[in-house]
Amino acid sequence: MNNNPIVKKAIWFAWLLVVPVGIWVTFQVYPPESNISLSDVIPFLILMSVVAAMPLVVNNTPIFLIQWVSLAVFLKYGIFIEMILMQVSVLTLLVRLRIPKADAYKFPLNSLMFFIVSLASGLIFYALGGTHGEHLADEPYYILLGVVYGVSNFGINTILLVFIQAFLFKLKPPYFGKDFIWETVTTLITFPIGFVLYELSREMGAISLLFVGIPFASLSIILSLYYSSDNVNKFLQNAAEIGHQLAERLKADEVLDLFVQKLIEMLPVDYAYIMDVVDEKELRLIHKIEYGEMLEPVSAPLNKGEGISGLVWAEKKPVLFHSKKEWKHINSGYMPPRVESILSVPIVRHNQVTGVLVLAANKKRAFEKSQLMIVDILCSHFAVAVENARHHEKTKENSERCALTGLFNYRYFENMLTTEFEKLQKGERDLMSLILLDIDHFKSVNDTYGHQSGNEILCELAVRLNNRIDQIGTVARYGGEEFVILLPDMRKGNALQLAEQIRLLIANEPFTLLQAMDDEGKLLKVNITVSIGVATAPQDADDSLALIRHADRALYVGAKRAGRNRVAEYVK
Ligand code: GH3
Ligand code: MG
Ligand code: MG
Repeated sequence: MNNNPIVKKAIWFAWLLVVPVGIWVTFQVYPPESNISLSDVIPFLILMSVVAAMPLVVNNTPIFLIQWVSLAVFLKYGIFIEMILMQVSVLTLLVRLRIPKADAYKFPLNSLMFFIVSLASGLIFYALGGTHGEHLADEPYYILLGVVYGVSNFGINTILLVFIQAFLFKLKPPYFGKDFIWETVTTLITFPIGFVLYELSREMGAISLLFVGIPFASLSIILSLYYSSDNVNKFLQNAAEIGHQLAERLKADEVLDLFVQKLIEMLPVDYAYIMDVVDEKELRLIHKIEYGEMLEPVSAPLNKGEGISGLVWAEKKPVLFHSKKEWKHINSGYMPPRVESILSVPIVRHNQVTGVLVLAANKKRAFEKSQLMIVDILCSHFAVAVENARHHEKTKENSERCALTGLFNYRYFENMLTTEFEKLQKGERDLMSLILLDIDHFKSVNDTYGHQSGNEILCELAVRLNNRIDQIGTVARYGGEEFVILLPDMRKGNALQLAEQIRLLIANEPFTLLQAMDDEGKLLKVNITVSIGVATAPQDADDSLALIRHADRALYVGAKRAGRNRVAEYVK
């Protein structure tokens, strides 16, 4: 949509310049025959307005199935009457579509476009020698001229539309979507009805309009129904496909991103919000997308029953609003000012609402009832997929970490070491160092203060190591009171320095025991020391097991045997 005010003004100006004068000139050059009375024309005007007021809506684009009536009007009464009736129909259609004020330029734009269509196709007809009021059966050439008129009418219309999309709205191709195919096919189907209407109205007068109008209206309704069921089928197929894709994601965040992205692709959504039910108490915004852009989800939480999403939560039922009028009185909390249509669905798992989805659009009537059903289905896929992903994340986390200290466990560590060695072999990494650390005489700590106190020391040691290493490497609990640190891209000299710092960090600061107290009721402080071995790849080892083994050897031979509380490097 073009929001440039200059372009909008230019459209009004062009209309003012062309259409009134153009219609007047047409009247002067091709005046309607004098024997035509208003009572002849009014039934056609009514038929055209009725047809214009019930467009077939495909892909959110209204299809204006009026060419067949305008063909009959043209053949019968000539270019001027057709032009006027067409203008009235365009007006009817736009009023029916409830064009928002900001889009008021669509009135002059469509009026101008259909003026050009009427004028150009009429002129082509006259240029080929066409006249009015002939009996079709007497004059096969006349039928051909009618076809030429219809085709040029549709063709010029299409060319103008492409021109408008490309130059005025700066849209990129393809311009011919599903709506174009529908328009072409339905226009072709309805053209012959135009000839029938013309011929019948010559014979029977105004009553013929009912004979043709009623079947047409039925056809139009059937086409609408067919389109919407066809659409629902496609949506359903789409939903099944999205369901599979959601189920394949193993991370909850990825499930969420994919879900929202697919919704935005599928529906005319300007805003998408996902809220999480927190502790059965309140709804908190966790995902916020506006005009395709992900924003920080900040918004005050809503209580059960409060606002639109609070209501969806409380009633466990989806809601669909076509315009602001319908939801204004229940809204509470955040909603962008331009929103008209809202579709909101509860995310239900095990019969419990776990969240609420809100989709909104600036357009009125942006969402259909069938879409509500599809979104509801998608939400159940989503709820299952998120739960599975969270479960998977949790299981993975548990299998990778030590329950006591929260550090990575040896299984995780060995996998990581293997991956790092692969990087080393591929040349993606130059070197890495490994620090292995073992608490000195830990058995006697346990014996003196109890196993529980030993655990406390292990936990605090884990915290100290993590704080010191932070992002430069990975700390893992390798065994009972043994810890290991992998330092990618760190030279041996630096690793030895770091190991020494760690040794001091432990030896210089006693560990506080919360469980045990001394006789005076004071918290006990225990001094601990560690022995450390350091090895570096590739200089000390060609594979992951060798690297650990060599660090272990340095630890036992170089540090423990040499008297403990010291750092040793591996020497061949
Ligand atoms: P050193 O390493 O200096 O030779 O002596 P150490 O006493 O530390 O050596 P050893 O390997 O014989 O004993 C390790 C002790 O660590 C044995 C065990 O009681 C203790 N330990 C292992 N895992 C845990 C644990 O999870 N919690 C507690 N509290 N103690 C543990
Ligand atoms: Mg040990
Ligand atoms: Mg030990």
